[in-house]
Amino acid sequence: MSDPLEAPVPTTAAELLGLFPPGSRLDPDGELVVGGCRLADLAAAWGTPLFVIDDEAIGAQVRRFRQALELNWPGARMVWASKAFPCTAVYRLMAQQDIGVDVAGGGELVMALAGGVDPARIVMHGNAKTTAELTMATEAGVGLIVIDNTDDIDRLEALASASASAGTGTGTGSGAGTKNAKKQPVLIRVIPDVKPDTYEAVATGQAGSKFGLPIPAARAAIERLRRSKTLRLDGLHAHIGSQIMSAEPFAREVEAIAALGEFGVYNLGGGLGVRYTYDDHPPTPQEWIAALTDAAKSHLPPDAQLIIEPGRSLVAPFGVTVYRVVSVKGEDPRFVAVDGGMADNMEVALYGQRFEATVTSRVGGGSAVELVGRHCESGDRLISGVPLRDPRPGDLVAVAVTGAYCYTLANNYNGALRPPVVFCHAGRPELAVRRETYDDLLARDISPD
Ligand code: PLP
Repeated sequence: MSDPLEAPVPTTAAELLGLFPPGSRLDPDGELVVGGCRLADLAAAWGTPLFVIDDEAIGAQVRRFRQALELNWPGARMVWASKAFPCTAVYRLMAQQDIGVDVAGGGELVMALAGGVDPARIVMHGNAKTTAELTMATEAGVGLIVIDNTDDIDRLEALASASASAGTGTGTGSGAGTKNAKKQPVLIRVIPDVKPDTYEAVATGQAGSKFGLPIPAARAAIERLRRSKTLRLDGLHAHIGSQIMSAEPFAREVEAIAALGEFGVYNLGGGLGVRYTYDDHPPTPQEWIAALTDAAKSHLPPDAQLIIEPGRSLVAPFGVTVYRVVSVKGEDPRFVAVDGGMADNMEVALYGQRFEATVTSRVGGGSAVELVGRHCESGDRLISGVPLRDPRPGDLVAVAVTGAYCYTLANNYNGALRPPVVFCHAGRPELAVRRETYDDLLARDISPD
């Protein structure tokens, strides 16, 4: 986390608005407006903490990626890495945008299907997929399953022979139990030995990563899958990490996996970083896609199908978390404590991600404070040294760029109720997820007789 002494440069309203969803503005009375809705009105209607999402801006971002992809590699496919915001309404939004979805496990698969995602467009990942999850995937008709390890191969082949001997015709690939059983399409996840410059916790492409197979083991898996009677090896997958602020390592990733030979499909993963704070300058979607496709033009077969799998960059910039200030104390440091924290934003505690924030009715200027959460850990410090203008109890504070991995990692620490999600565009708010209730907290308990 950045040193509070380095951060307290007062910011202008224009600089702050640049971190909020496009079209965010101030009303004549100075109140912050996102997606055409006054944050104060949303907080009055649904309480705080509150996730506010500009869903139209997400749609526009998807179209930006798709256009760049189509221009650079016609026929390429895009799937959204749904771990970034796994809520049924967002799956529905992505399905409406006509893109596929990456799911890691049975829970995300259930939500994707509930959101209306075509199973043929689903890519299933996971370094520890259980037999139950693989069964769900094959029975649902998931388009691609990404092999992370040889146990995945063992399990999928066992599932196919079980359904063949049961003659059910279900199981691995539709019609697996019949004579002309359709083989389940799979990719192999490869560790390209590329270490991007990002947080340790979300770097995945380096040697020693727990995800995927190193090149020599991938070669052996390729040989095995080429002989498989039930699995169809379509190609390779790699994903080098998340919140990556340079396009350069992606080109190295493509070159590394090209060494494994020619395939019909290459899923190049996600990982494009986003601008959380003033000094962040990630590549644009167009620059990222150009880096991937330029490398693909140099190293991959020209008729191969490319897949990209962005998560964070499709949703993060279009989400805002609104909190209520509960207490303000001290001078140096000055603590501003809000009614949420690490139960709705684990990105700070897990990786030390820096965010920016503002009092919603006094945007810009101010002096540095410690914006802290309400949870019982000193590490529950939302933003260290963030300039806020005259924060007082009862004020609303909006933290920008919380559309990725915040809803995802929300939890019940200290009995916190997970926040609602409100979609807003053109001044029309729509509740997508309600707030948890105290009854929800007790709902899974089994009472003693
Ligand atoms: N693909 C896979 C396999 C992932 O594990 C992830 C997330 O870590 C992504 C794509 C998306 O990454 P990001 O959200 O950084 O774009």
